[in-house]
Amino acid sequence: MTIGMGLVKAIVVVLVVIVSVSGALAQALPGGFAYLSDVDPTILQDIRYAGANNFVGRPLAGYGARECVVKREVGLALKAIQRELVTLKLSLKMFDCYRPERAVADMVAWAENGRETTAEHRYNPAFRKADLFRLGYIATHSQHSTGAALDLTLVDLTADNSAAFDPTKAYADCTAPVEARAPEGSVDMGTGYDCSDVKAHTASSLITPAQRRWRNLLVAAMARQGFANYSKEWWHFSLPGAGAQAYDFPIARRLHSQPTRSSTNPLRFGTSICSRSTGRWLTLSRPTAARRRRKNCRSSASIGVRPRWRNEAGSPTRTHRSCGRSTPTATVVTKSSSIRPITS
Ligand SMILES: [Zn+2]
Repeated sequence: MTIGMGLVKAIVVVLVVIVSVSGALAQALPGGFAYLSDVDPTILQDIRYAGANNFVGRPLAGYGARECVVKREVGLALKAIQRELVTLKLSLKMFDCYRPERAVADMVAWAENGRETTAEHRYNPAFRKADLFRLGYIATHSQHSTGAALDLTLVDLTADNSAAFDPTKAYADCTAPVEARAPEGSVDMGTGYDCSDVKAHTASSLITPAQRRWRNLLVAAMARQGFANYSKEWWHFSLPGAGAQAYDFPIARRLHSQPTRSSTNPLRFGTSICSRSTGRWLTLSRPTAARRRRKNCRSSASIGVRPRWRNEAGSPTRTHRSCGRSTPTATVVTKSSSIRPITS
């Protein structure tokens, strides 16, 4: 009996060790890649190719998890940008990061399949799918496969970003006014993400002054950390020298991952920022129990409960520090000549 129990215990211990080791190996990434949520969990993520809300209408091959994977140095550069944006009550939001080569092949096969649905046409209202190669919107090789390219936008943390994409709804195409387009929970850049249209060209003259300011602010913030924008896509950036070799490892679900921030609440409670309007420090406070009950949420960090920015009273030293003098504003402008075209 005792020997039998001992044997069972030994088997259990061995199995636990095997599972732990295999789990750790499954999470290891090659080539200096890292999960962005491990580098900076405050950066929002909406990895569109891991779901159905994209121009293909389904997850692409190799996207087994909604995780942004990048070269570690790219992640650290994004973290520095995020630190700057927080002072403006803004956040980065990632649409796509590392893209396995099999996903690129999947995209190419889709473009060549000869069919074109209404939902697909929302992303390229002026072109046929077959023209996307010729016009430079889809390529057989992508910088994304090196881990050095990113698709991203800005989120205004003070805005209502709660509108969710509804696959059953007939939205206007990606060049339409923001009210008619599919919601993306981000600032209005003049077109939706992945919009294959001249209006999405970063320096397009077809957008409003407010949309121009958002694009300029994003390009300027990224450029300060060395990122170059692709002139045909306001959302595409790459970090020169960060990656040359293309990879094909799939993006796998992790056993123990950092929570990926995809809500309107990307910041840690207690984070302080400087208010542009009042010049006072504001602190991100946890929603009250009453507010959580109203929203029927189990966690204060759940999607649907927005945090509150409160005046940080009793901190004369911090309040005395001028927010306006050192903090860039939403009117930061960069010359369009600094936008360098690179291959998508
Ligand atoms: Zn891209």
